[in-house]
Amino acid sequence: MNAPASELACEARLNLRHLPRYMDNIADRLRSFEADSTQEGQRIGFRFAFGDGSFDLDRLVMRASAADRDGLARVKDLLATAVQVYAKEESPEIVWTGDLASETSLAQFRQMTVVDVHDLTPRMRRIRFSGEDLGRFAKFGGMHIRVLFPTRDVPDPQWPVLGANGLPSWPEDDRRPVARVYTIRALDVTAGWMDVDFLVHPGESVGSAWAMQARAGMTVGIMGPVGRPVRQAQWYVMGCDETGLPALSRLLESLPATTRGIAFVEVADIGERQYIANATAIELRWLERNGAAPGTDPRLAEAVCSVTWPQDGTGFGWFAAEAEASRIVRDHWRVTLGLGRDATLAANYWRRGTAGLMAG
Ligand SMILES: Cc1cc2nc3c(=O)[nH]c(=O)nc-3n(C[C@H](O)[C@H](O)[C@H](O)COP(=O)(O)OP(=O)(O)OC[C@H]3O[C@@H](n4cnc5c(N)ncnc54)[C@H](O)[C@@H]3O)c2cc1C
Repeated sequence: MNAPASELACEARLNLRHLPRYMDNIADRLRSFEADSTQEGQRIGFRFAFGDGSFDLDRLVMRASAADRDGLARVKDLLATAVQVYAKEESPEIVWTGDLASETSLAQFRQMTVVDVHDLTPRMRRIRFSGEDLGRFAKFGGMHIRVLFPTRDVPDPQWPVLGANGLPSWPEDDRRPVARVYTIRALDVTAGWMDVDFLVHPGESVGSAWAMQARAGMTVGIMGPVGRPVRQAQWYVMGCDETGLPALSRLLESLPATTRGIAFVEVADIGERQYIANATAIELRWLERNGAAPGTDPRLAEAVCSVTWPQDGTGFGWFAAEAEASRIVRDHWRVTLGLGRDATLAANYWRRGTAGLMAG
């Protein structure tokens, strides 16, 4: 690995007895954020588009470096999250030292103000938020955000700050906002706005309930971007319900014109179809539930699983819907077809009867 052109660097000691045991999982996770990895002796390095990370298994130290603050914050967040997730049994305590170690403002957080609300369809509401310094939401390949909402119990939440471990530090429960995951449907960094499409669904909720009464001047927090970049391929099979439609629309608007494939979209009824400026040769097919409850119609998963993958060229499977449909598609791709993570992503966007899935 060549010497990085980095100006900012910091490191954290890892008092973990079994670090080597966790390293395969940590490395897998970091590589899924499009990092190139190398190993020289006991040093495992990761090069991301925005900075470098490394683990020294002899010295039990992890190191982050980048050319700018955003990049350094992102590398620290990815390394610290991977350690927290895979070394959980040893309750790792991470304290970064070095450049920006005393920083308390959270690079991935912005307070946003509603500037426009309008309905795209009877059940899909587009809300435009304005905010400052939104450049990072166009970086790092992730197209999703955690939206932090005020609620009836916490009408005036306190926003998270940066902890010494490089991860968000949250206020006590009585001031803590409630998070839900959404997709940045559109973003204009220069003008300082982003659009988020909220599905308005019945029942007790936080995000949907907030969107139903949203009006100009209201504020939320956002954190991000979150999510991995979608792998470039020549051919795609895609499927989603309304919650995945903002992400699918962005993909169809931005993939190269030569990209082939098929995309199935499940919506409640014909009135929920939306115009998508599909820039690709991917064929779009709508499926309407026509009275079936959301998350109960098997046809979306069946349609996606019935597609024959072409033998030539690179292919990718992308699916985003209710958890049970995603499980069926994931099992089909991974177990029946034997495809790997590098060729498929079947994500749980919500789960019937469960509040706040994936928002933690
Ligand atoms: C990466 C990612 C991106 C996402 N992007 C978007 C997006 O751009 N727009 C969007 O609208 N959603 C999106 N979602 C889905 C959204 O996060 C969930 O639907 C979330 O549960 C909504 O929160 P809530 O507060 O409205 O409902 P919750 O409080 O989480 O749930 C309350 C009840 O409503 C049910 N419920 C949740 N979602 C639905 C639904 N779709 N239909 C019917 N019942 C439901 C739950 O099962 C629960 O019983 C995304 C999810 C992920 C993981």
